Amino acid sequence: MTQHQPTRAAALSRLANFTANMGHNYAHKRNFDYGADADIEQDKWRDNVSKLSPYIRHKLLTEQELIAAAIKAHGATGADKFVSEVLWRGYFKGWLEQRPEVWADYVTSRDAAFKQLKAQGGLRKIYEQATEGRTGIDAFDHWAKELVETGYLHNHARMWFASVWIFTLKLPWQLGADFFLQHLLDGDAASNTLSWRWVGGLHTKGKTYLATKENIAQFTDGRFAPTGLAAEAIPLEEDKNYKLRPLKIPPAPPAASAFALLVHEEDCHPESLILPQKPSLILGVSGPDGKSPKGVSEKVSAFSNGAVSDAVTRAAAHFDCDSVMWNKGEKLRDVLANAKLERLLSPWLPVGALKDAIGKEINGNNVRWIIRDYDAAIWPLATKGFFPVKKKAPDALRGIGMEL
Ligand SMILES: Cc1cc2nc3c(=O)[nH]c(=O)nc-3n(C[C@H](O)[C@H](O)[C@H](O)COP(=O)(O)OP(=O)(O)OC[C@H]3O[C@@H](n4cnc5c(N)ncnc54)[C@H](O)[C@@H]3O)c2cc1C
Repeated sequence: MTQHQPTRAAALSRLANFTANMGHNYAHKRNFDYGADADIEQDKWRDNVSKLSPYIRHKLLTEQELIAAAIKAHGATGADKFVSEVLWRGYFKGWLEQRPEVWADYVTSRDAAFKQLKAQGGLRKIYEQATEGRTGIDAFDHWAKELVETGYLHNHARMWFASVWIFTLKLPWQLGADFFLQHLLDGDAASNTLSWRWVGGLHTKGKTYLATKENIAQFTDGRFAPTGLAAEAIPLEEDKNYKLRPLKIPPAPPAASAFALLVHEEDCHPESLILPQKPSLILGVSGPDGKSPKGVSEKVSAFSNGAVSDAVTRAAAHFDCDSVMWNKGEKLRDVLANAKLERLLSPWLPVGALKDAIGKEINGNNVRWIIRDYDAAIWPLATKGFFPVKKKAPDALRGIGMEL
């Protein structure tokens, strides 16, 4: 059973338990992967990292709340490392939002790679060994199984896994990214696609990440020291330079006639959205299966659907209104007409599978998009690398009343 329950209450409880560790402990120990067994055997979480990512990815917990908690407990200097890591997420979200073709090309090349698997028995065999944890590289096989069993991997394990996948097993990176999206509870179009591209040398052009026996031995606390890994990581190449399309922040929706508020898996904290007035209806929608042509694991499906269900229930109570689900196959126009409503407000739907699945249909209705102040402050900064974002974040966040 997963340790992650898909509710805001569980997210807040984990946040409360982890806040004391967001300072010195995190800065010094976050790179160590002590293994999932450390949780299960000792019946406790690995407290050198937060494991909050499934909550943050679904916005059951907002980045703003997380940063505020870290700074309140440890001060700006003490919380610096933890806050930096949270900013990485905003950086990746903003970077992809402003280069949507990177996602579109990933989807096309992923589908082509699956076709290649069908046609090439040798490649298919290596893919099956990798995803079933049967390569003979003990550490890699362990992580493949841990991912499937728990829906989570430590950041360092994700880096090692992706590096071995690309440079030792020589599998297409898109199929590894897809394997992660099938199984990670926090599977996210931006963080996942761009991290895989980063390991392969496509994000920071020419700069790759090479997993080594020594580094793995040190940071798994001696649990693994795999031999036979690639000795070099020659950057992958692509014949494209992606153009930046600066983000257009939509204006706040004006007060007007009655509306339905959409709640989707990209934003499960409707209570903190700035709305012009109270909604008349909460409309829930969830569709994690679209993340992969192979669908997602039961754990991922249960977490995403559960997160939306929790958010819909909370929102209906908070705004004191009815709620209904917009189910697969139903026309949004009909769902709204049944409720005698013509207007829809929706939290921003970022680049990714859910937008691909329902974005057009939502846009075909009378919708106003709401982008959160935090995202509007951080995302536009992601024009190049991470470090300018980190440098400019304090000023940008001060503009929305946050002190870094
Ligand atoms: C190949 C690869 C694929 C990845 N795929 C995803 C993904 O699909 N979804 C996802 O949320 N993260 C992804 N990451 C980033 C990172 O590994 C996870 O966010 C982190 O491990 C989550 O664990 P945690 O909550 O314990 O992190 P903590 O160390 O406790 O960090 C707190 C929060 O900061 C954010 N964060 C931390 N490190 C990163 C990072 N390197 N990049 C972006 N955000 C970060 C996360 O929201 C995280 O929950 C990926 C990294 C790699 C190398």
